[in-house]
Amino acid sequence: MTRLNIAAITAALIGLTQSAFAQTIERFEEIADDLYYVGNATHNTVFLVTDEGIILADPVNYGFSTELRAEIESRFDVPVRYVLYSHHHADHASGGAVWADTAQFVGHENMLRYLALPPADTPIPPEVVDWDMDGDGLLEGHEAIDWRGFNTSTRGEFFLAGFSHRLFDFYDYDGDGALSGAEITRGPLNEVRAPNITYRDELTITLGGKTAKLVYTGPHTHSDDMSVIIFPEESVGYMADFISIVRPPRWIRGVRPIETWLAAIRLVEAQDFTIAAPGHGAVGDAEYITLFREYLEQLRDEIRAGIEAGETVEQLQARIQMDEYSDWISYDAFLPQNIEDMYNLLTNQ
Ligand SMILES: [Zn+2]
Repeated sequence: MTRLNIAAITAALIGLTQSAFAQTIERFEEIADDLYYVGNATHNTVFLVTDEGIILADPVNYGFSTELRAEIESRFDVPVRYVLYSHHHADHASGGAVWADTAQFVGHENMLRYLALPPADTPIPPEVVDWDMDGDGLLEGHEAIDWRGFNTSTRGEFFLAGFSHRLFDFYDYDGDGALSGAEITRGPLNEVRAPNITYRDELTITLGGKTAKLVYTGPHTHSDDMSVIIFPEESVGYMADFISIVRPPRWIRGVRPIETWLAAIRLVEAQDFTIAAPGHGAVGDAEYITLFREYLEQLRDEIRAGIEAGETVEQLQARIQMDEYSDWISYDAFLPQNIEDMYNLLTNQ
C-alpha cells in the first residue's frame, strides 16, 4: 500500500468516526413524568429528576456528558447523584468523570473485571498482530492505523470501539505511547470511570422518593456485565446494545451462543415496564423488545437451514429478506452484516 492510500484511508476513517460519535445532543424528550430520553446521532441514555437529585443512566462519552451537564444545570436545580451503567463498553460508559463531584457510580460487579488490565503476558490479539511492523511486541502510534481492527479485540467479545482520532489514548492504560497485548485486549476504556457501587443479581437505588432498579441479564453474546435499568414508577426500561428498538442489531458477534442472547432478551421481556428506551434506535412500546427477539430467531432459523443446505454467506445475503422489519432504522444497511455475523456465530460453535 502506498503512503497516499494509507492517508486516504485514515482520512476516511476519521470522517466516519467523527460522524458516528457526534457529541451534539440531538434529542431531549420527556418520555414519562420527570424522565428524559437524551441522545446524539447514534447513542441515547435516560435520566430521572427527583427532589434530591438526578439518576442518570449511561454517560455515553466525555463530550456528550459535558454538554448534557450544561443542559441539565440550565433546566434543573439538583445535581446528578447516581450514574447507572448498562455495561462497560466505552461508547456508552465513558465520560463519568464529568459527574464525579456529585455522583456515585453503579454497575454490575463484572464491570470491574473488564476495566482491570489483563495479565502482562497477554499476547497482541491475532487480528492485529500484523500491525506490529517492527516486531517488538508493542503497537506504537505509527503502526496502529486501522482502528476498525481494534473493534473485535476485547477479550473475544464484540465491542464497537469507534471513538475519535484520540482512540489510541483510550487504550494506552499506562500512558507510555505504546500498546501492549494486555492494553489492546482490555480495550479503549481509559475514560470509563469504575463503579464504586456494584451488585450481583439485582439492585434498587432510591433517591427523592423515586427508584431505579438494575437487573443483571446474565452472560450473553454481547458481554457479561449487562444491566437492564428499570424505572418502575415511570414504567420505563433502558437497555443498550443487546436490545435495540425499531432497529436491527448493528452486529451479531460474540463468544457465546445466540441462545444466551435470546435468554437475556426474554429476561427483559419478563420485567414490568411498558416503555422501552434503547441506547440505539427510538423509544417504543415494550412489545418491540419481543419483535427484536423474533428478528434474531427468524434470522437464526433461516441461516441454520441455509447452512444445512450448503449455502454460502453470499447466497444467503442474496436470498434472505426480513420483510416485516423492512421499515426499521438501518434495515438495509445492517441486514447483510447481520446475515454474515449470524452465519459465523452458528458455524463457529
Ligand atoms: Zn456494548
